[in-house]
Amino acid sequence: MGVGIIGAGPAGLMAAIAAAENGAHVTVFEKNTLPGRKLLMTGNGRCNVTNRMSIDRYPEQYFGNGKFLYRALHAFSPEEVERFFEASGVPLIEENQGRVFPKSGRASDILSALTERAEHLGVRMEGLEKALDIRRSRSGRVAGVVTEKGIREINACALCTGGETYPTTGSTGDGAVIAHRLGHTIIPHRPALAPLDIVPNELPELPGVVLHNVRTTILQGNKAIARRSGDVLFTHHGLSGPAVLPLARFLPTDPSEYAEGIRIELDLWPDSKETGVKDMMMRRIESNRNMKMIQIFREYFPASFLVHLFERAGVSDQVFARDLRREDRKKLQSSLRGLSYRVCRTPMFSTAMVTAGGVSLREIDPGTMESRLVEGLFFAGEVLDIDGESGGFNLQAAFSTGFLAGRSAAEFAAKSRTKHE
Ligand SMILES: Cc1cc2nc3c(=O)[nH]c(=O)nc-3n(C[C@H](O)[C@H](O)[C@H](O)COP(=O)(O)OP(=O)(O)OC[C@H]3O[C@@H](n4cnc5c(N)ncnc54)[C@H](O)[C@@H]3O)c2cc1C
Repeated sequence: MGVGIIGAGPAGLMAAIAAAENGAHVTVFEKNTLPGRKLLMTGNGRCNVTNRMSIDRYPEQYFGNGKFLYRALHAFSPEEVERFFEASGVPLIEENQGRVFPKSGRASDILSALTERAEHLGVRMEGLEKALDIRRSRSGRVAGVVTEKGIREINACALCTGGETYPTTGSTGDGAVIAHRLGHTIIPHRPALAPLDIVPNELPELPGVVLHNVRTTILQGNKAIARRSGDVLFTHHGLSGPAVLPLARFLPTDPSEYAEGIRIELDLWPDSKETGVKDMMMRRIESNRNMKMIQIFREYFPASFLVHLFERAGVSDQVFARDLRREDRKKLQSSLRGLSYRVCRTPMFSTAMVTAGGVSLREIDPGTMESRLVEGLFFAGEVLDIDGESGGFNLQAAFSTGFLAGRSAAEFAAKSRTKHE
């Protein structure tokens, strides 16, 4: 008997380590052959493991649910995450906006540090062992994990099965099903941090082209429902990048709303008022009268994108500055401030990085991660109704909640052993 951990992602592995460090016999049940399949994909294989933002500002990064993380973040802070990996022989470096990566640029180093530490502590790793259910004793406490191979008796269990995105990695929403069966409320899952698909006839063929410093707005009819700023990346199917991915969680889930028109608008000159764009254009036109307009704009945007911009504005890309008519200048101006594309469907779980929704936080004690409904049941990671901005915040949440759930589960298991002795 001891602590069972369901799911060997970053939350489950950290929970296993913390439980074992606190004296528990730990078994991890993982449905895949090997642990951490999604972890290996993080940060394009480089793994943005945490963020150096001040811990006081962390809660703002989790869309209204960040306060729940306060105690977990203090139990195992971003600094402690860094110390853990550095001490495991994985040097880290800070990149833009506080993002922290392994110096080697390999997510596999992060996974190895976790699995080696778990192994060193005597954690049993059971691969190809999918958990189907959690069994309770007559008094209602956690008593066993029901897997495809049978029933494993345990005193406490941490459910760390992740969300529902990139299902080929093993995260298929199983934890929500199990938790619901045990009486927990599940906030419906939605894809978050996902690229947006654009209707094909509006999408330019510009895969790989990046626009910097863009303000994006999602419009439903005339109503703005979400905004972001940063880089935008054109893909084969639509738009991605830091200024697009976080918008996904705000999009409607009802397909019929897309028929009525959901648009994403790009403001390519966001730091300036309307008159500022006009003044910039007038100045550039006056001092470069013998240049083509498209050459003037080359200073700011990639050439391939400019052909598209001029086409969308309805202005010839061959026009010289000296010949630009007032109405064409206005058309270019408004395309710069509001280049818009129709989003064709709800973002997809298969391409989203994170799942919004999950086990309701109201039913979980934030100081221990224990269920308020089932004694001996703990939760950690993306199975919870927590999703963060990109920048290392989702892994940090997985590590902090994993650490706290593992430590608390070990304490619970020790207490229930003493009671039975
Ligand atoms: C492409 C991509 C890039 C990302 N990049 C970053 C990044 O750079 N930084 C960042 O902070 N976040 C990133 N994320 C998000 C981050 O990966 C997740 O938030 C994090 O992995 C969640 O950890 P978890 O342990 O809760 O769940 P998961 O990593 O999903 O792990 C859950 C584990 O549980 C197992 N499991 C599921 N059901 C069962 C079952 N019934 N029985 C047994 N085992 C089960 C799964 O097989 C899986 O191994 C990225 C996500 C994706 C998809």
